[in-house]
Amino acid sequence: MELKKFIRDIPDFPEKGIIFRDITPLLKDAEAFKFSIDSLSEKLKDIDFDIIVAPEARGFIFGGALSYKLNKGLVPVRKPGKLPYKVISEKYSLEYGEAELQMHIDAISKGQKVIIFDDVLATGGTALSLKKLVEKSGGEVVAMSFLIELSYLNPRKILSNDKIISLIVY
Ligand code: IMP
Repeated sequence: MELKKFIRDIPDFPEKGIIFRDITPLLKDAEAFKFSIDSLSEKLKDIDFDIIVAPEARGFIFGGALSYKLNKGLVPVRKPGKLPYKVISEKYSLEYGEAELQMHIDAISKGQKVIIFDDVLATGGTALSLKKLVEKSGGEVVAMSFLIELSYLNPRKILSNDKIISLIVY
């Protein structure tokens, strides 16, 4: 299935010069959404791992479906002030602007093998900060996976030691 047909390009969102890859057409199409989850699961199924870590908001959509399909737990990473229990934080820079992510202090146990999942890999800043959160908790990132990778932003440069598995590459 040609999944790029279900990704809508929005020029100059959220800022001038950025092409935003909008995944909502893919989400509302039952076959395209199912095909995306099935294809990602197929790519991840032979990796030895314990849990998926995914950031809000679009990471939850795919991370949740993948956790169910691969029979693993899910750790939600959120923007500041959203998680109810004690958190650890990581500040980072985005393709557009600054940001901070938080994870519950007891979300990952020491030695747990983690797959990080997000909808889009752009500059890699978010993925790197997710990795730092996991490592602060004593977890090990065994792979990072994405629905979409924007290779023209060179995210693999700052993630050079990581195993990266993407479904759709621009
Ligand atoms: P990065 O930190 O620059 O790699 O940006 C990745 C984060 O920003 C992810 O959490 C994405 O959800 C979001 N993001 C960046 N660019 C896009 C896009 O074109 N479409 C959807 N989300 C994006």
